Amino acid sequence: MFLEPGPQPTDEEVEARRLARRFAAEVLRPASLELDRLADPSAVIAPGSPFWEAMRQAYSVGLHAARFPQALGGAGLSAAAHQAVTEELAWGAVDLAIAISVASFPFAYAALGGDPQLMTELVQPFVGDEEARHIGCWAITEPDHGSDTLMFEGEHYRDPSVFWSVVARPDGDEWVIEGSKSAWVSNGTIATHALVFLGIEREQGMAGGGVAVVPLDRPGVSKGPPLDKLGQRALNQGQIFFDRVRIPRWFMLVGPEGYPAMIERVLAAANTGMATLFSGLARAAFEEALDYARQRVQGGRPIARHQLVQWKLFDMFVKVETARTFARTVALSSASRGRSPAHALAAKVYCTQAAFEVASDAVQIFGGMGLVKGMLVEKLFRDARAALIEDGTNEVLGLTAIRRLMAEHGPAD
Ligand SMILES: Cc1cc2nc3c(=O)[nH]c(=O)nc-3n(C[C@H](O)[C@H](O)[C@H](O)COP(=O)(O)OP(=O)(O)OC[C@H]3O[C@@H](n4cnc5c(N)ncnc54)[C@H](O)[C@@H]3O)c2cc1C
Repeated sequence: MFLEPGPQPTDEEVEARRLARRFAAEVLRPASLELDRLADPSAVIAPGSPFWEAMRQAYSVGLHAARFPQALGGAGLSAAAHQAVTEELAWGAVDLAIAISVASFPFAYAALGGDPQLMTELVQPFVGDEEARHIGCWAITEPDHGSDTLMFEGEHYRDPSVFWSVVARPDGDEWVIEGSKSAWVSNGTIATHALVFLGIEREQGMAGGGVAVVPLDRPGVSKGPPLDKLGQRALNQGQIFFDRVRIPRWFMLVGPEGYPAMIERVLAAANTGMATLFSGLARAAFEEALDYARQRVQGGRPIARHQLVQWKLFDMFVKVETARTFARTVALSSASRGRSPAHALAAKVYCTQAAFEVASDAVQIFGGMGLVKGMLVEKLFRDARAALIEDGTNEVLGLTAIRRLMAEHGPAD
């Protein structure tokens, strides 16, 4: 029923999508529904919970290292195949798909420069992991700095009076890190390694940052409790505290000179992924609504035969297909022509908003049943709601994107 946007998919892509779809249906969706019902977020990550079994299975089939080259032991998927796999995993369970995706962050960025020491100490152990022993997270936001940290086109960004809470100072051959990240760090309380965005040069404001990989078994690291939240409940979240934590000099991947380019790169990559993930959720919500509308009989006929329901389904279908096409276009264009931060942010904003609207309409089509705990559409609605804030609120990402576009087109008249 759904189009394959772009050129004819390769055999590799077709097979990768098929396997991911099966994994999503058989492993991720049942685990995520079970985890969603747990009242206590600590139970989600307790030993023996379905979370760990789902993660172990994902690692054992190489989903954690899907984009790492085969030479390193990764799956070496093309950008197109990876985009298709991501959409399928999120169709099954967006929360677990995000947990798997963000688990690779510190290792993927450590691999960028090809530094042999980082490859041996960090990247290879992660890629070769078949049991989910290495779990990464991306720690950028702080209790007092949420949107601040992401608005790289904001007026505040180079203002020295607005500075990071987590800071690093050099000390001989090491960096010493101090401060705390927000309770929103995905995988925060279970992560073994964090990609930490932090302050180094106070005179440069938020732009005077750095990016470090911090192994979270270092002395001085502690963590808060898992966060209890509305949606994406299978995605663990929690605060990380750094009390004079020491890391070797080479674990600081980027200093202030490279920081502005790095934040753009990471935000573009993360939001390109978010667009694909939530186009997958939108498709899941549409499919649920279509199936239900064909079965539910009211007034002597399936509700799918009522014109107003047909129009609603059509409207949802258009949103699903435009979200999928936008997400795929941005993902493939950034892989072949380089990233455009404005397009990545626009795709995230569009696809998450589309997912939220489609999930909301799906609840409406289910009538009262759409509000019942344990119904997939009820969960999809809550999961999609969280996405309007996740990785930057849609308002702030939109402002950042339009400012970037205006800057690219030169000063205003
Ligand atoms: C599900 C989920 C997963 C997340 N995962 C991670 C993660 O892995 N790592 C991580 O570090 N963080 C993560 N976050 C945090 C997320 O990035 C922040 O919640 C988000 O950036 C907003 O920050 P805040 O919550 O502090 O809100 P605030 O920044 O306090 O914003 C509050 C309100 O003010 C508005 N606002 C703020 N500044 C401006 C401005 N300049 N102009 C206009 N409006 C403005 C916002 O749009 C918002 O409506 C996650 C969040 C969620 C919900």
